[in-house]
This record gives sequence, structure tokens and C-alpha cells, in this order.
Amino acid sequence: MKEQLIEIKKNILDALNDVKDLAFLEKLEKKYLGRKGEFTQALRKLAQLSGEAKKEVGSLANEIKKDIEKKFVETRNNLEGKTDKKGFIDVTLPGEKIERGHLHPITLVQRELEDIFKKMGFMFLDGPELESDYFCFEALNIPYHHPARDMQDTFYIDHKNEKGEFDLVMRTHTSPVQVRAMLKYGAPLRCIAPGRVYRCEAIDACHEHTFDQMEGLMIDKNISLDNLIAVMKELINGIFGRKIETRVRPGYFPFVEPGIELDIKCTICGGTGCPSCKHSGWLELLPAGMVHPNVLKYGGVDPNVYSGFAFGLGFTRLVMMRYGIGDIRFFNSGDLRFLEQF
Ligand SMILES: [Zn+2]
Repeated sequence: MKEQLIEIKKNILDALNDVKDLAFLEKLEKKYLGRKGEFTQALRKLAQLSGEAKKEVGSLANEIKKDIEKKFVETRNNLEGKTDKKGFIDVTLPGEKIERGHLHPITLVQRELEDIFKKMGFMFLDGPELESDYFCFEALNIPYHHPARDMQDTFYIDHKNEKGEFDLVMRTHTSPVQVRAMLKYGAPLRCIAPGRVYRCEAIDACHEHTFDQMEGLMIDKNISLDNLIAVMKELINGIFGRKIETRVRPGYFPFVEPGIELDIKCTICGGTGCPSCKHSGWLELLPAGMVHPNVLKYGGVDPNVYSGFAFGLGFTRLVMMRYGIGDIRFFNSGDLRFLEQF
């Protein structure tokens, strides 16, 4: 009896290995497992056995039955997979949506600013982020031993000139583009230069080591502070789409004379004070002024003929105010929960 069951099992498994289509599989199923099938008939004989023999053969039969059924299911799955699922493309099913990226909030506002300045006839320039000490300080009226260099905590690159002075820096402001632009295009000149700048800062909600500025420069005959303030107001009203309260106060920067600071009322707290505005209610947004005659000379522009203004917009800060972002650290965090809101 045992031998008979094992023999049937072997026959079934061999037969299943040669199955090529579903119709043949169904025939085999009927032949062995159907009501009058060989295996079913063999099982019926079990009833004739008794005692120990019945128990022993019974458990073997059960095992064989499981194996056979499993093999039938496997074979069926393989055949169906071949004819129906694999190699068949249902062109009527909706496609998978490809997720698209989007622009960083800094880029979004940069584009808006470029639109505003384009209307006023400004061109857009770029400058190197690894800058020479000469363009970053010297040509901006900040000599090597001038204490004004202490105003900007600088990342110097481990590289010295023949005098033993560090001569390469990660630019601390976008202002080096001023002299580069004058040397390249001469006067008259209108340009903006947005880009990244670097300071060795202790990081908190309003300080970062890497942030964005936007330099602006306008040189022509008879340019005055009035022109500067008019352009600044155009810029701020354009970017916020409403009137923002501003104030102008004197400021010191070695590359302008006179220098001013244009502040805007904090749009996050409305002027009552919050961490973003250092609890003052105002935000320094625009250090600016009339280009220092020495800087014009470094740029090859005659200060007796031309005058000009320059500003260094705190670009990252402007974006914070624009969208009401209370912490500067979000910008470089790469945190999708933040980025996906734009
Ligand atoms: Zn505030």
C-alpha cells in the first residue's frame, strides 16, 4: 500500500514537470485527484486497513496529498503567470505618477527680485564664492590690517601669498562683485549679484555660517542717496506686495561714504519683538550707501565724473520675512517637511 502511494506520487510529480498548458494540467488533476482519480482510489483502500497499519499509512497518505496539492498550485501559478501576468501590459491602467521637485524658497524669491530689477534696467551677475582677499577686502577699501575686517568673521583658506598673508577666503559678502563688475563693464552700470556668502558664526535662529545676499550697484552721473532710497522702496514693496514700514539710519561700512542701514519692521512679530528680530521689532535688511571714491578707483571708474550707490541685501533674511519663517536654520537643513511647503 505504502509503495503504491509513493509510486503514484512519483508519477504525478513527473507528469507535472512536463505540463505545458493549463488544459493539460486540468486533465492531470482529474486523472489523479478527481473522484475516480488514481490517488483518490488508493486512499479509499485505506479504510480496509486496521490498527497500526492504518495509522501509519494514513499519515503518509496525508503528507503525500499535501505535497501533490502544493505542486499542483505551484504549477498552475507558473502557467498563469506566463500566459496572463508576465509579458502582458494593460495599457488602459492609469500610469504611475512621477514626483516632481520644485524650487527652493531662496530661488523663488530670487526670481521675483530679478523681475523687479529687470524692470529697472539692472543686469544679473555672478561672482566666485572662493574669493581673493584682494576683491573681498582690499579693493573694498578694507586694507589688510584694517580693524573693519573684524566685523566679518571669516573662513580663511589655508593658502598664503609670498608675504605670508592669507590670500583666499570664502567670501563674507557679495560686495566683491562690485569691483569685478566695474572692471569688466565700466560706467555707467546697473547690476545685481545674488549668491551665497560665508561667515564663521555661532549658529542660532537668526545666524547661519552659510546664507544668501544680493549685491546691488548703480553707477552713473549724478547718482545720489535719493536714487538709492527710491530703488530700495521699489524693491521692498515689490517683494512684499504691500507697504512695509522702513527706517533709515546711519551705518558704517568701509566701502561706502556715506553709509546707511535700511531696516524693515519685523513681519514675523509685527514689531513687538521676537527671536528673529532679536526682540527689537526691526530687522537690518539693507546695509547700503554711496560707493566710496576709493572703491570706484579700484574699479577703474573716475570718481570725479561718476558716482553710485551700492547695497548688500540680507537676502536670506528677506525670504524669512516674506514667508514668515522664524528660524534661519531651516534653509540649509534639507528637511523635506520644510521644503515641501513651497
Ligand atoms: Zn520680530
